[in-house]
Amino acid sequence: MLSQDILVVGGGLAGLAAALVSDPQLNVAVLSKVHPLRSHSVAAQGGINAALGNNPEGRDDSWEKHAFDTIKGSDYLADQDIAELMCERAVSTIYELEHLGVPFSRFPGGVIAQRPFGGAGFPRTCYAADRTGLVILHTLYEQSIKRQVKFYNEWLVTKLVVKDGRCLGVVVYDLARGEVMPVKARAVIFATGGYGRVYQRTTNAFINHGSGIGIAYKAGIPLKDMEFVQFHPTSLYDTNILITEGARGEGGYLVNNKGKRFMEDYASSAMELAPRDIVARAIQTEIEKGNGFEDEYVYLDLRLLGEKKIKKRLPGIREICINFAGIDPVEKPIPIQPAQHYSMGGIDVNAQCASIVEGFYAAGECACISIHGANRLGGNSLLDTVVFGKIAGEEASKAVKGSKELKDDEKMLLDEALGMKKKIQEWQTKDSGERVHRLLNRLKVIMSDRVGMFRNKKDLSKAMEKISEIRDDYKRIYISGQCLRYSQELVNIIEFDSMLDLAEVITLGALNREETRGSHFRVDFKDRNDKDWLKHTLVTLKDGKPRVSYKNVNISKYEPKVRTY
Ligand SMILES: Cc1cc2nc3c(=O)[nH]c(=O)nc-3n(C[C@H](O)[C@H](O)[C@H](O)COP(=O)(O)OP(=O)(O)OC[C@H]3O[C@@H](n4cnc5c(N)ncnc54)[C@H](O)[C@@H]3O)c2cc1C
Repeated sequence: MLSQDILVVGGGLAGLAAALVSDPQLNVAVLSKVHPLRSHSVAAQGGINAALGNNPEGRDDSWEKHAFDTIKGSDYLADQDIAELMCERAVSTIYELEHLGVPFSRFPGGVIAQRPFGGAGFPRTCYAADRTGLVILHTLYEQSIKRQVKFYNEWLVTKLVVKDGRCLGVVVYDLARGEVMPVKARAVIFATGGYGRVYQRTTNAFINHGSGIGIAYKAGIPLKDMEFVQFHPTSLYDTNILITEGARGEGGYLVNNKGKRFMEDYASSAMELAPRDIVARAIQTEIEKGNGFEDEYVYLDLRLLGEKKIKKRLPGIREICINFAGIDPVEKPIPIQPAQHYSMGGIDVNAQCASIVEGFYAAGECACISIHGANRLGGNSLLDTVVFGKIAGEEASKAVKGSKELKDDEKMLLDEALGMKKKIQEWQTKDSGERVHRLLNRLKVIMSDRVGMFRNKKDLSKAMEKISEIRDDYKRIYISGQCLRYSQELVNIIEFDSMLDLAEVITLGALNREETRGSHFRVDFKDRNDKDWLKHTLVTLKDGKPRVSYKNVNISKYEPKVRTY
């Protein structure tokens, strides 16, 4: 049986950061359902935050101000000690990345360039044109190869194996060989990213099914604050490819069909650079009021930046617009609409990235360490992945070095793998029933229509019913082909089980939370209610049912105030 000291699941930024710092004396591997360079991190455009103070308009910036902006942006649901930890480490993290070889854009004079981003009091987003995720991911991948990290690519984790509160390893489906088998590990780190594809409109990659979060939930680990789903204000109309916040950071305007910069009605001081929850709701409100175009979109106008700046700072955005919408932003405004973008919630872990299961850690977008609270600021996720990916790698290394080799655990791993094989055989022997793509489409429509940006009790309750109907139908799922090599249908069937759980947990959290906070907007409870709701939602699977509980928010220095921008 394959056995690792540390098994990192996920080859995005959080996973590679974890693998790179793991103790080199340990036997460390990264396992990923796609080649690491295809992880969604590669698509990150706008940048990564740190209070370097390089921008002439941001000389007085400090990590404390960054922490304050993060906490205010979170609508005070972030754990303040954790936000402070991340922001304090941000500056050294950027220099480490620079020394590893990340080719950041520069200001004249050579210092790392920084641009303004939403919800930030200072221009503190470091970038590499509009391809920041790509260059960081490639750099960390090169470093991993140099340090001889072992990679298992195109392996899908289907189950986390836990015995008496201790993690033993995972079960995987190896796509190339079409086989299911167990992998034993003394520590497992999940860095499996977000679940954007649970929604119909999303900026996320097609692979972002969120199965890692669902697998942890199935293993009895609580999920935290899942009702907080970020909708990005500016995705390209129709395809929903992201148009980075950096486009507004560089000076782009939002205009409605009256030619008005409508953000002045919603955030008169920050305008287009208010936090994402506020800008996304403003755009959707304009569209619903009839101030959009074709009832679907508004314009993001970059023309005032001029050709030179667009080509230098936003070359990828220009390419996307030309290739996918036939529009050159140098000449025409870009049609945009909000789309699901990021998951603030995730697997409940502490500041060491440790969960309630011994030997199981999580970092990056799949984890909820409570940094982003009810709304994440742009540029803070890349930072989160690198800072907490590293912490996860360090903590797992320490724990493994201090622990004894596990004995007598192989039988359970083998049994679990056998269980998975049997399930697959069942799906294969049926020749009629439900097809997974149909169920997936039904689920996405429900989530977009009823658990979207504007929520209410009636829709959320209906969504719970519909999700449960789809769950019943999922029992009749079957595989149409017999070949299990590279079976995307099998991948989808396996991951759909997780997607159902995630949809249910998101909806349940949203239904219970009778207030409006950050990205969670209840039209029937329009105010934030700190007295009753300044707390984290936890949902745990017990006896096959989701159980809701709550946990206090850590408030250190910053008393919750009304957010204005
Ligand atoms: C278009 C776009 C642009 C963005 N731009 C920015 C930005 O400019 N700044 C910023 O701060 N944030 C940005 N974000 C957010 C940020 O990029 C992500 O939150 C972050 O990169 C997630 O990194 P990760 O390592 O957690 O996961 P990912 O990069 O998503 O990687 C997940 C990994 O897990 C693997 N995996 C998943 N499930 C399984 C499984 N069951 N078995 C095996 N492997 C599995 C995948 O193969 C993949 O390797 C952007 C997001 C998007 C979608």
